[in-house]
Amino acid sequence: MAIDVGYRVEDEVRAFTQQPKRMLINGEWVEAASGKTFPTYDPARGKVITEVPEGDKEDIDRAVRAARQAFETGPWRRLTTSDRGRLIWKLGDLLLEHLEEFAELEALDNGKPVQVARAADVPLSADMFHYMAGWATKIEGNTISLNVPYMPGAEFFAYTLREPVGVVGQIIPWNFPLLMAAWKLAPGLAAGNTIVLKPAEQTPLSALRLGELIQEAGFPNGVVNIVTGYGETAGAALAAHHDVDKIAFTGSTEVGKIIAGAARGNLKKVSLELGGKSPNIVYADADMEVAIPGAAGAIFFNHGQCCCAGSRLYVEDTVFDQVAEGVAKQARSTELGPGLSESTQMGPLVSEEQLQRVTGYLDSGFQEGAHAIAGGKRHGDQGYFVEPTVLVDTTPEMKVVREEIFGPVVTVSPFSREEDFVGRANDTIFGLAAGIWTRDLSKAHRTAAALKAGTVYINCYNVFDAALPFGGYKQSGWGREMGHEVLEQYTEVKSVCTKL
Ligand code: ADP
Repeated sequence: MAIDVGYRVEDEVRAFTQQPKRMLINGEWVEAASGKTFPTYDPARGKVITEVPEGDKEDIDRAVRAARQAFETGPWRRLTTSDRGRLIWKLGDLLLEHLEEFAELEALDNGKPVQVARAADVPLSADMFHYMAGWATKIEGNTISLNVPYMPGAEFFAYTLREPVGVVGQIIPWNFPLLMAAWKLAPGLAAGNTIVLKPAEQTPLSALRLGELIQEAGFPNGVVNIVTGYGETAGAALAAHHDVDKIAFTGSTEVGKIIAGAARGNLKKVSLELGGKSPNIVYADADMEVAIPGAAGAIFFNHGQCCCAGSRLYVEDTVFDQVAEGVAKQARSTELGPGLSESTQMGPLVSEEQLQRVTGYLDSGFQEGAHAIAGGKRHGDQGYFVEPTVLVDTTPEMKVVREEIFGPVVTVSPFSREEDFVGRANDTIFGLAAGIWTRDLSKAHRTAAALKAGTVYINCYNVFDAALPFGGYKQSGWGREMGHEVLEQYTEVKSVCTKL
């Protein structure tokens, strides 16, 4: 289907969206076995950009077969780790060569401001490949001295090997479509696995374009397979597949639990990076020039569609009005528009469904007695925009305080110096991230130690780096993404014990 995307975009982006879209299985671009397709939308206008194949169980089967063959008998396993690293590095280079194109594709399909995709999503994705390329040659085991009590005098030579897990299924969300693909693919490949990737149905385009670069970089056929399709069908088939050795998922806690259940059949390994309701704490002694825009950015970055968004803002009572009003002012002055407009500071939510979900939470908050000092409703009547919203007068039991909204909505609550309020910050089923703003180093690190969260930001927020592990306590997930920690999720340890 040839559709005019309706914006001024790079020629490559226009050409890519106008070509018929296919999925990548065993090095070939193929239609879904059923021949079915589904639309992907421009969230700024609610219009179809193009159609992509609607992969389902049969396509997942084909992709898993290809990945299995590539893992067991293909050239991939025979590559030196240095050559493997070189391929991954090249993919990072290719991404940088196509930076503008990917930034526009992301802005078009997801709705995020193109300037953000240009500065963050694409360079961070390239960085992830470059960082992980270096690890391919550094995955090592240990030698271990043995002292077996019932074999006195026996001598052994024992060591561990770190081997790839095998065929890995990766299911990713729509909030950072390219970056989430990079977070998953890069370590999986560095460790020597073969992969079936399922992008989110809302944002399949950048992953398909990345598939073309994977081919161009020269990865052997079947090492990376990309199947587009819905979660309940293609995603579910991948999570339940008996020939998949590991499933890595990023998305909602609700679906994470379904994935964990589906993995039970063959007890495949599971890693989950899930939701959050992260507390962001402003002490009265914070540098307000930094803390106020920082608190606003913590929630409004990516329109609040970040699993680690600082969505519960706790402010020491003596500075409550200053901070709440400061964040509200920032919210009111945010320019909303299509992601592809250069002046846009906040784009639309990704889908009609998210629009309904976020505005539903706003209604529930107002019914329960919360008040908006900025925003509070849908913006305009075209596309899926929601005003950046600051809610006050909330109580800890309200749904807007307890549940993940995944939109540009922050609740602001006061705390007093005497109160042991860290308990309140930890009073959540989630534990992904937290923020602390203070000039007092001791207080900062005491608070960091007391918070139950996988990442604690001090005087900053939403800082991501390929080397910095990311993941959740409690119901925010299992395992860590990024850093060398992630390689544990993509390797098996084999102990080899020799009697001398
Ligand atoms: P959101 O609710 O924010 O859309 P989801 O957790 O539903 O996030 O989606 C994240 C990813 O999980 C997407 O790729 C989606 O297709 C997939 N997914 C959704 N439901 C299932 C499921 N039942 N089994 C496997 N994958 C799923």
